[in-house]
Amino acid sequence: MSIVVQKFGGTSVADSKKILAAARKAIRAQKEGHQVVMVVSAMGKNTDRLVNLAKEITEEPPAREMDMLLSTGEQVSVALVAMAVHSLGHEAISLTGAQIGIVTDSTHTKARIRSISSERIQQALDDGKIVIAAGFQGIDESFNITTLGRGGSDTTAVALAAVLGADSCEIYTDVDGIYTTDPRVVPEARRVTQISYDEMLELASAGAGVMHNRSIEFAKKFSVPVHVRSSFSDNPGTMITTEPEAFSQPVCGAAMLKNEARLSVLGVPDRPGAAITLFSKIAAKNVAMDMIVQNVGAGGRADISFTVFHDDLPKTLKAVEEAVWELKAERYNYDDQVSKISVVGLGMATQTGVAEKMFRALGEKGINILMITTSQIKISVLVARENAADALRVVHQTFSLENEPPPAKAIGTGSGERSRAVAAADMVARMQGMENLIITGIELDESEARVTIVGVPDTPGLAAQVFEEIAAAGILVDMIVQSDGREGQANLSFTVPQGDLAKSIDIATTLADRFGCQAPTSCPKVAKLIVSGIGMKSHTTVAIRTFQSLADVGINIDMISTSEAQINVVVDGQKGQNALKILQQEFADVMV
Ligand code: ASP
Ligand code: MG
Repeated sequence: MSIVVQKFGGTSVADSKKILAAARKAIRAQKEGHQVVMVVSAMGKNTDRLVNLAKEITEEPPAREMDMLLSTGEQVSVALVAMAVHSLGHEAISLTGAQIGIVTDSTHTKARIRSISSERIQQALDDGKIVIAAGFQGIDESFNITTLGRGGSDTTAVALAAVLGADSCEIYTDVDGIYTTDPRVVPEARRVTQISYDEMLELASAGAGVMHNRSIEFAKKFSVPVHVRSSFSDNPGTMITTEPEAFSQPVCGAAMLKNEARLSVLGVPDRPGAAITLFSKIAAKNVAMDMIVQNVGAGGRADISFTVFHDDLPKTLKAVEEAVWELKAERYNYDDQVSKISVVGLGMATQTGVAEKMFRALGEKGINILMITTSQIKISVLVARENAADALRVVHQTFSLENEPPPAKAIGTGSGERSRAVAAADMVARMQGMENLIITGIELDESEARVTIVGVPDTPGLAAQVFEEIAAAGILVDMIVQSDGREGQANLSFTVPQGDLAKSIDIATTLADRFGCQAPTSCPKVAKLIVSGIGMKSHTTVAIRTFQSLADVGINIDMISTSEAQINVVVDGQKGQNALKILQQEFADVMV
């Protein structure tokens, strides 16, 4: 019999009327012949209320007690939902995380799922019951209650769908699907019918906050089709699955992370490992770095810039101060009034011209780009916060995201996918940790060269000019990074195929002349290492391990870009093979 998991968020169980409506949805699915598992969140804003209560008692409540407290929110909901199903004449049983056997690690308030036993749920389903599972919670090996982090019920739902081999996981929420961007900022944003796991992951971490990111990682790992839809209407919603809405579209969505802060450490001795000192100090404070840009060092010194969530700025500044002192760097500065705008799309991996189109659109609006990083399926720029909403609008318009793309293929949830999912489940079971990091591949690309224009005037439209001229020469640019510059000047580095280097240098030299900056630097052969996997960002140690292992053998990193699915580093072309070997050794334990 087919199993359907239905997850109801806080707004969907906010009062008794809504609880009854949710119960009816489950009963309807059961009548259609499915076995039904409901996963529910705490009612309305209950979790917030509990957090505030704890704060009234103490500024720093012990994390274990926080979990004890927060888990009660979901316990209230499951009991009421089960009562609602009963009252409508059907059988139901509510279960807490512990009763299901959701075993997590002991990282209170952000625990990761290790394993889930499906026997008890399966038994209840076979007895004809609707199972009501408490979202967001689990239990560690010593029977302490744990929670999965705010918004974690999504992760519970997808994880249950994975272990039960469910046919689909329906996420009922207060919006009716995934939009091309936030409709509150860009009213013409369009609901997409389908989006791929990778695109959803990138969009979510770029600021599109519909689903818990770890739930998408799960869905991808186990090929669980996720259906996001409204609990208040019968609109079709959005399918999150392996394939995008349309391969022909370079961009599927745009997102804004409004409250970012940019920090730069200037004049870092350019030797392997210097960046690690900085990065590990920041990681030690549990802060995740976002855009990271390291300039190719001039005069034996490098500048490193990165962004963090605005709320993490005080902690990060402390780490930076320590690092500056220890590294004997020149100084640091920061800007706490910046936002990140990203465009995402599987299609851009195979289409050209996406970056310059974005830069041109921003340039024409007079919006200055402060930093750029690109990865295979994402381009991110940092802008002043006062320009952020405009930038998002302009980008959305430029890629005509409001228009439906040509019809997509049928939504594929075929059996091939399920058998892959089962294979993945086996594999992860062997690894003893459902939410463990997995590295799916480490590749070496030795075909590129690097060009850097140093001291580009930091004014609107310059990046557009550079990449339009390069594109006009028929040159395919791969990776782009623009650093926050010194004294109103930026450094722009990019990689091109080695055969196009001479042409690229010519163009860059002409441009540098025009901009009044010094001659561009270049490297005829660089090696790009691409580490791909699932959980690359939520497991913050991956980046550090990458940098550290290379630093340990004296390999300097020229360019970096990180995304949800990949870490790309560019190193000296002579060191590519060695770097590959080192990374393969470093990640041998998590490679599949
Ligand atoms: N109730 C929890 C929260 O508000 C979990 C969830 O809603 O997913 O974060
Ligand atoms: Mg929620």
